[in-house]
Amino acid sequence: MQSAIVLGGGMVGVSSALHLKRRGWSVTLVDRKEPGLETSYGNAGIIQSEAVRPYPMPRDFATLARIAAGQTNDVRYRLASLHRHVEPLLRYWWNSAPKRHQQATAAWARLIAYATPEHEIFIQEAHADNLVRRAGYRLLHRDPAAFELAIATAEENRRDYGVQFRVLDGRELAKAEPLLRDDLPGAIHWLGPWTVSDPGGLVAAYARLFQRLGGTIVTGDASTLAETSSGWSVETSEGRIDAANVVIALGPWSPDLMLRFGYRIPLVRKRGYHMHYHGGRSLDLPLVDTANGYAMAPMSRGIRITTGAELTSPDAPATPVQLDAAEATARGLLDIGTRVEPEPWYGTRPCTADMLPVLGPAPRHRGLWMNFGHGHQGFTLGPATARLLAECMSGETPVVDLTPYRADRFGGH
Ligand SMILES: Cc1cc2nc3c(=O)[nH]c(=O)nc-3n(C[C@H](O)[C@H](O)[C@H](O)COP(=O)(O)OP(=O)(O)OC[C@H]3O[C@@H](n4cnc5c(N)ncnc54)[C@H](O)[C@@H]3O)c2cc1C
Repeated sequence: MQSAIVLGGGMVGVSSALHLKRRGWSVTLVDRKEPGLETSYGNAGIIQSEAVRPYPMPRDFATLARIAAGQTNDVRYRLASLHRHVEPLLRYWWNSAPKRHQQATAAWARLIAYATPEHEIFIQEAHADNLVRRAGYRLLHRDPAAFELAIATAEENRRDYGVQFRVLDGRELAKAEPLLRDDLPGAIHWLGPWTVSDPGGLVAAYARLFQRLGGTIVTGDASTLAETSSGWSVETSEGRIDAANVVIALGPWSPDLMLRFGYRIPLVRKRGYHMHYHGGRSLDLPLVDTANGYAMAPMSRGIRITTGAELTSPDAPATPVQLDAAEATARGLLDIGTRVEPEPWYGTRPCTADMLPVLGPAPRHRGLWMNFGHGHQGFTLGPATARLLAECMSGETPVVDLTPYRADRFGGH
């Protein structure tokens, strides 16, 4: 029987373990925590089938100047940490040029096409339907010119990728969300995405399915990974575990481990914060306030506000200024009630410098496989990229050609 250790119990790692298990592999999933307690816990919980274009870095001077001056709430940077971002940011800027972003979009959209169908299989098998709503989400627009532009892009996405949406004027929005302030210009309602009331709970449900199929989950530290004569080993609470293959699915922690084996993956670490609110009014569907760079999602713990990107170092203390600003703006839209947790949660979107995940075999190590770097949409794409990886590892032809996602595209190893 083929054997694998999967390092990382987020959406990507659990999905990778599941797909291998379903193919009859012997699989051990290793995490230092229970599955689904890090980035895959704290996100906005949207399975974004509409997100056919990865987020480019803004390249126009006016937007960059506003970010530099701290005038935007969707992107913020911590000056003391900026030197750690210079190289990946330069690469990100270069890859965000229109032609290169178009190429990235083509590769990205091929993955997005499998997002909801692959989740659906796991949702059914894991009996997790109670956590998922299939009614889309809304993107609020306050500025008429920006709204027009967003509608034009949505129409392109419908034409090129079949993305379904409805444009709501202020009256229709007020009818759809009666508790929201009723003088708003309008919104785009993306019809295809699914929303999850407990993102970490969905990962945990997939993890239980993995165990039901015979998979093993143990606590261990990925940094103990070592190459052996027959493959790979990791130290865990159950002792040393050996397998012929290992999958690196450590989300934002992956590049540090890969560096030990000589692979340098440039990652733009975009931190985001969240907080839950209860005792106020709620929304029917998640709402993204584009102009103010945050999302509000009705979840099992209350309304969850998630923030945009803070460029900071992984170990930097929390500076939830974006959350404070988002909360103040959200209170102007809806009575969200009071904070649930004493401190905001924060986590890091693992964004590669060319906006594509790292997926496939390590070029110079037998049995070493990668599945990380899903950026803003790892919760969406976990099951899809896991399927492709499992197909590749099992010697099948993946339904999507893996060439654009291979680690050797970064060169310089
Ligand atoms: C605020 C915010 C909102 C977001 N909203 C969305 C959204 O709506 N939709 C969407 O698709 N995506 C969203 N994302 C992105 C998404 O959450 C991530 O892309 C995704 O969760 C990454 O999953 P992962 O499995 O790669 O990483 P993770 O979920 O971080 O899993 C990595 C695992 O590795 C483990 N680990 C790390 N180091 C070690 C070690 N040394 N030893 C053992 N284990 C280790 C961790 O404990 C963790 O469980 C959002 C992200 C943020 C921050």
